[in-house]
Order: sequence, then C-alpha cells, then structure tokens
Amino acid sequence: MTTIQIKDKKFSLSIPEAEILKAVREVGEAINRDLAHKNPLFICVLNGAFMFAGDLMKTVSVPCEITFIKLSSYDGLYTTGSVKEIIGLNESVVGRTVVVVEDIVDTGLTMERILDSLHAKGANEIRIATFLQKPDALQRDITVDYVAMKIPNDFIVGYGLDYDGYGRNLKDIYTVVPE
Ligand code: 5GP
Repeated sequence: MTTIQIKDKKFSLSIPEAEILKAVREVGEAINRDLAHKNPLFICVLNGAFMFAGDLMKTVSVPCEITFIKLSSYDGLYTTGSVKEIIGLNESVVGRTVVVVEDIVDTGLTMERILDSLHAKGANEIRIATFLQKPDALQRDITVDYVAMKIPNDFIVGYGLDYDGYGRNLKDIYTVVPE
C-alpha cells in the first residue's frame, strides 16, 4: 500500500489518477448533454476545485464561460462552522445558468452559502458539479446535480484538496490513516 506523510499525518492511496479522470470525464459528458444550449457560466470555487475544474473543462465542449471565486470554511481537519463571503465574482449571473464547480460537498454548509448568494445575485438556474461527495456527512437539503465520486466520511487530500495547505498537487486521492 502506498502511504505518504504530510506534516504530522500519514495518508494512504485511495483513488488512483486513472479512476479520477474517468469519473471526471463522465461528468463533463453529462454536462455536454444537459447544457448544450444554455450558455453556462462555470464558477470554480478556489482553491480546492482548481484541478477538478481544469480536467472537467477539457471535456466540456458546449459554449461557456468560466470564472473563479474564493471563500474558506475549513481549518485543518475539522470544519470551523464559519463560512466567509464569496469574493471575486465580477461577472453578472442575472438570468444565467450557472454551474458551481466544487472540490467536495461534505456537510453542505459551504454549498448552501454559495447557492443563497447566487440566488440573491439573480441567477436563473444553478447546477452543482462536485468532484467528491461524502453523502453520510450531508446536513443540508441540497441537490447535487453532478458528482464524480462518492466517498466515505474520512479526511482526504490530493487532486486539489489540502491538509494545512499541502497535498493539493497530488494527482491521486489519499485518505488519512487513523493514529
Ligand atoms: P462543507 O461546508 O460541505 O462541510 O465543506 C466543504 C469544504 O470543506 C470543501 O470545499 C473542502 O474545502 C472542505 N473539506 C471537506 N471535507 C474535506 C476533506 O476530506 N479533505 C479536505 N482536504 N477538505 C475537505
């Protein structure tokens, strides 16, 4: 088993790159089928979704725009419960179909905050595309339209997701090894 060390934690390989890329391609193909004539605006939530968005957009072939927003709700291994404001959205979403591109939907609190904000800004239709979802952790009534992979309720790193700032560059997903 491949294990790596990041700071004080050990992580073991759980989803290899090839599996990730296949699942991401399938999401892109579904989006191509569903949003062909909707001129969607993709909103990539930084930092975690940068790698997912990069690979996803290579498959998406419908006319579209992509922009990037930032917010943070996570501190180390545990959610802080406080969700900050969206920053960096300069495009108007009024009347548009938007696709929020996220790294992971965990409790759903972050996504709920983003959805509220986009509704308030006048988006017509909002779809969610997430790389990962932890269905057992969901605490909010949120419909996730596109999920590349569902995973158990364990802390993971890689493919854009970090542990205290490290591990985002890993091309595979690793799961924390319990101490
Ligand atoms: P939620 O608000 O849904 O509880 O959390 C969403 C955010 O928490 C994600 O965008 C991500 O940044 C972070 N997060 C949730 N689970 C994990 C995890 O297992 N690993 C990492 N690195 N971040 C996570």
